[in-house]
Amino acid sequence: MKSIKELFRIGNGPSSSHTIGPKNACLKFIERYSDVTNIVVTLYGSLALTGEGHSTDKIVKSVLKDYKVDVKFDKKTETEHPNTLDIVGYKNKVEYKMRFYSVGGGAIEIAGEDNDLPEVYPLSKLRYIIKYCENNNICDKVMIQTINRKAIRNNRGGDSKNRHQVYQPKAPCILPFTQFIVRPDGKVSLCCNDPLGEYTMADLNEVTIKEAWNSELYKAIRDKLKVTRQNITKCATCDNYSTTNQNGNMIFTREQIRDSWEAYHKGINIL
Ligand code: SF4
Repeated sequence: MKSIKELFRIGNGPSSSHTIGPKNACLKFIERYSDVTNIVVTLYGSLALTGEGHSTDKIVKSVLKDYKVDVKFDKKTETEHPNTLDIVGYKNKVEYKMRFYSVGGGAIEIAGEDNDLPEVYPLSKLRYIIKYCENNNICDKVMIQTINRKAIRNNRGGDSKNRHQVYQPKAPCILPFTQFIVRPDGKVSLCCNDPLGEYTMADLNEVTIKEAWNSELYKAIRDKLKVTRQNITKCATCDNYSTTNQNGNMIFTREQIRDSWEAYHKGINIL
């Protein structure tokens, strides 16, 4: 098994293969060719088709902010991997090119190179890990969550390109009652589906956590969300199933949502 750092890659959402992968590709490129002045990044396949909705271009530009950068979405050219990007750097009319594949979970591979990473742990399969936990009596400390291959993925806060084609529940949403998502700059996002900060509920550089949790904007949005998600722009196109499944049936009952709301007002789950 690879190192923990490799398995749990940390970075921007909303989709690691559209954000962390391209970010790592850009970092790898400038690690190798830091002297270039102009850079052209071309996105292919899924990165081109849904990259805009997943903020791939924003991530690329933020990593390469010290260079003159052009990001292109090539929706026509077929490549050998669905998440391919080419990065070409220029210096004194010399061209330096690398092709990357964003292979999932933020991992990247470089075309034509040996991409094998060292195996740090001897356990190579999930069943060995489960056995290890049982043998060492640590099952109650370890949570292993697997996702059905056919599970319907949501469109993550309405960020994906096809957001108008997917099912959009009208149900309330419980996430801003139960989550507190802080971005690296100290600003608080609406929920985990707002990782790039379309909404800033509060700024922890200026207020305490308690003040942030009780900010006027948080309150106003929670007020709306306890009834329906349809009155908030981002939420109206979000098919996150935190309260409903893909058939529109509630996972949390209305009573649970109401209890969460009341607990919030009574300050039970406030720090
Ligand atoms: S509806 Fe979606 S975007 Fe809105 S708070 Fe809930 S999970 Fe976040």
